[in-house]
Amino acid sequence: MSPSPNLTTRFVSTGSLPGSDEIRSLVETAYENFREEAGGKLADYIPALAQAEPSAFGICVANTHGDAFMVGDAAQLFSIQSVSKPFVFALICDALGPAEAAARLGVDATGLPFNSIMAMELRADGTSNPLVNAGAIAATSLVPGTGAEDRWHLVRQGLSRFAGRELECDERVYESEAATNQRNVGLAHLLRGHDRLYCDPDEAVDVYTRQCSLLVSSRDLAFMGATLAGGGVQPLTGEQVVSAATCQRVLAVMATAGLYERSGTWLYDVGLPGKSGVSGGMLTIAPGKGAVATFSPPLDAAGNSVRGQLVMRFLSERLGLNLFISAPAAHQ
Ligand code: GLN
Repeated sequence: MSPSPNLTTRFVSTGSLPGSDEIRSLVETAYENFREEAGGKLADYIPALAQAEPSAFGICVANTHGDAFMVGDAAQLFSIQSVSKPFVFALICDALGPAEAAARLGVDATGLPFNSIMAMELRADGTSNPLVNAGAIAATSLVPGTGAEDRWHLVRQGLSRFAGRELECDERVYESEAATNQRNVGLAHLLRGHDRLYCDPDEAVDVYTRQCSLLVSSRDLAFMGATLAGGGVQPLTGEQVVSAATCQRVLAVMATAGLYERSGTWLYDVGLPGKSGVSGGMLTIAPGKGAVATFSPPLDAAGNSVRGQLVMRFLSERLGLNLFISAPAAHQ
């Protein structure tokens, strides 16, 4: 029996962001509050990322209607890194369906660092989840195509549809990571041994490394996130990029595993699905409302942007986004 339209709307996250003036003022306050924060270290295991400007700082809030509220370096381009993972997972989940995607990739938090080999070895079936390197490389290996070029074309096209514009690869970052990513190559070959990699291992890592090198701004990320927040409809182009059912599953994995071993702390404080990347990008989704993206390269020990986390702790509550906050119920 299919639910009536009224029942369907009863089951979706409701509410909206505050008015434009309030959002603008909160975004500016967040920027001022945390611009002097000096904690964290640049990622240096990818040599090109060690040259980032530590003071770069941008915030963008985008709603599902296509409005953006930006402050600081929100237009500055940086390599998307791990923030690409939920979007590649979305494409795969959409193509295979949520049950098959979960069976082939896993959807449980590992509690371990993003590049952990042990995480894969600890589970009998060799799965992890699509937001840590092993599961993300496995997700990339499921992209259809007969060679690296084909797969890369589909990944770039897919992520560009989320952004609402053609995304380009940063060749310098790609080459820097490709020359130093022996650990990811190792993970891919081990996954192959577990029957959890679905194309040639070197090809999967090559496409994954290119995917991580796609250049985005905080504004791009915010609209990519707003697409996941709006049932898969890109707010600027109006395109249905993936289904609403896919968005639901992607956000669930982001909530449990988006910040690696700090995912529990993140959910405890921020109460929203999020995803971080080693170049300093961070994306937080408010289902049904929109998304907040930040860019600030200095990272904590788990590889999550220090300023990004501070901004989100502040904005999640002030913008009324935390999914777990309820008012005391009136007693009859
Ligand atoms: N390209 C990076 C890697 O595979 C992405 C990791 C990240 O952003 N946490 O190591």
